[in-house]
Amino acid sequence: MYDALTTSYTFSCPVHGETHVRLSRFRRLDQLPGAQHPSVFRVEFACGCGGEHAGLVSHDDLDWAPLGLGDETPFVNLMTSRLESTGVELTDVAAARIRAGEWPWSFFCWPEERPRPVFPSSFRLLEPSAAGDRVGLAVRCPVCGKVSVNLVSRAHLDVPFVNDREVGVVQHLFDEDAAATVAEFHEELWSAAFDARRLTLS
Ligand SMILES: [Zn+2]
Ligand SMILES: [Zn+2]
Repeated sequence: MYDALTTSYTFSCPVHGETHVRLSRFRRLDQLPGAQHPSVFRVEFACGCGGEHAGLVSHDDLDWAPLGLGDETPFVNLMTSRLESTGVELTDVAAARIRAGEWPWSFFCWPEERPRPVFPSSFRLLEPSAAGDRVGLAVRCPVCGKVSVNLVSRAHLDVPFVNDREVGVVQHLFDEDAAATVAEFHEELWSAAFDARRLTLS
């Protein structure tokens, strides 16, 4: 489902059969109702074929697979000639970095006026800028529950532990209703003034 080497998720595409999609090409995430464990998210993504499709991804795959957890892909260690799991290796690295105060993903919570660590399951809506180098991102804060919209680089989303030093923040309090948020997001995103905020978490 998630390939750590290309930092992409695998979905099916009606044209290509299978497609590899990085997080910055996600467009919308919705947690499916019900009590599945782990919970399941419906993801709409911009596919390499030019279309937009939807796919399902489990909470574990969404948040933890990029950090190596749950990834059983074996590889041959050329130093020891042993078959090892990339999962274990990446997990140790990820755990050590989180303990050192680095976070795989972060965003600036506008209502709280502070940066916060976050996981992809809190992302709601994404839209690339016209030039394609930046992505507008609506995040539901895991702490205060309010939606903030940040303007970030693609790497900020696609590569765990790569965080922009500064992000753009839309100065707008978004509605808590999901449908209203979608409308406001597209309305506010490229018309609003972005305020630059530092993302230093420590
Ligand atoms: Zn496609
Ligand atoms: Zn918050």
